[in-house]
Amino acid sequence: MRSRSKLLDILLDSPAHQIKAMPAVDYGIDDADPFPFLAIIGQEEMKLALLLSVINPRIGGVLLIGPRGTGKTTAVRALTPLLPFVNRSLCVEGCTEAMLEEGGMDAICQHCQQKAGYGEPLTAVDKIRIIELPLNARLEDVVGGINERIATEQNRIRLERGILGHADGRILYIDEVNLLSAPIADAILDAAAQGHYTVRRGPLKQRYRARFTLIGSLNPEEGRLRPQLMDRFGLRAVVRGLDDIDLRYRTYEMAMAYWQDPTALSALYAEEMEVLAIEIENARELLPRVVVEDDGRSLALSLIKKMGIASARAEITLFEAARAHAAADMRTEATTDDVQAVALLALRQRTSSSITQFLADQDAEDEGITAVIQRENR
Ligand SMILES: [Zn+2]
Repeated sequence: MRSRSKLLDILLDSPAHQIKAMPAVDYGIDDADPFPFLAIIGQEEMKLALLLSVINPRIGGVLLIGPRGTGKTTAVRALTPLLPFVNRSLCVEGCTEAMLEEGGMDAICQHCQQKAGYGEPLTAVDKIRIIELPLNARLEDVVGGINERIATEQNRIRLERGILGHADGRILYIDEVNLLSAPIADAILDAAAQGHYTVRRGPLKQRYRARFTLIGSLNPEEGRLRPQLMDRFGLRAVVRGLDDIDLRYRTYEMAMAYWQDPTALSALYAEEMEVLAIEIENARELLPRVVVEDDGRSLALSLIKKMGIASARAEITLFEAARAHAAADMRTEATTDDVQAVALLALRQRTSSSITQFLADQDAEDEGITAVIQRENR
């Protein structure tokens, strides 16, 4: 039997560094080092879901559900040093050289047509970043609007993209996603569904591209998530408090080590984090060549059928997650093992007792209506 890939090894057997081996050096104040992803104890499901969504954005992001204090936000921020470099459009409408090559000048916006004419680049290499949506964000912060500073200082009106526009090609993280106000949730849903949105202010109108990977977290004690928003997330990871008391103690030790000296803790994990980042790049490169083999496909489809899932997003999420899992293992065929490894993450999002109930009620209602129609027809 072949051995597991480095990426999955690193992930599933996170090195248990003895943090007492950490040098007691004072590096001064520095909040630039996020908590090392590999120093997160346990929570394999959450870590796997996050990495799969980085490897394959088509999975459609991740929803982390769990009580407060289980490290959801820490884990998301810890992804930062692991995120790959991508070719990023410099234009708010998302024009790229690839679009120009495929569709000619008509495929890009007027502004970029000019740039292309002068031989200027339309894209630049950029590391994927995480954009956090602040809980107190206003609708105009989210979608954008008139730049008030320019309006007052220079007495001219300029539209500016909001957080959604800035999140294009990046990861949009929403903590406490269930507490979003309805208008903001609607704006995010629209942008996520269409991949762009348009801002109109008086005579001004601007379209912004907004294709982002959505990561959300919520504490179920603080209210439900609207079903439309729930359906936007690809995977759902359940984050539970750790049962094992030794693991709990190690989590406490890690938290203290980070609190005392984030730079030193990062240094302790720097080497493995570097290897993991390279493995993620490799998996992303391999992904386009990964196919789901026949048995894997049959298993996935029969799971979806048996669970009576309506949303077509089930297939997308399950197949794309299985492909990402195979890529993480450096294989070009996703098998039944890959499907099984991700099935819970991909499908628990899609089953809903209320939908099952709704469909049952609808069937009953349809039967009633059909009976009436048949009686009238006699
Ligand atoms: Zn453009």
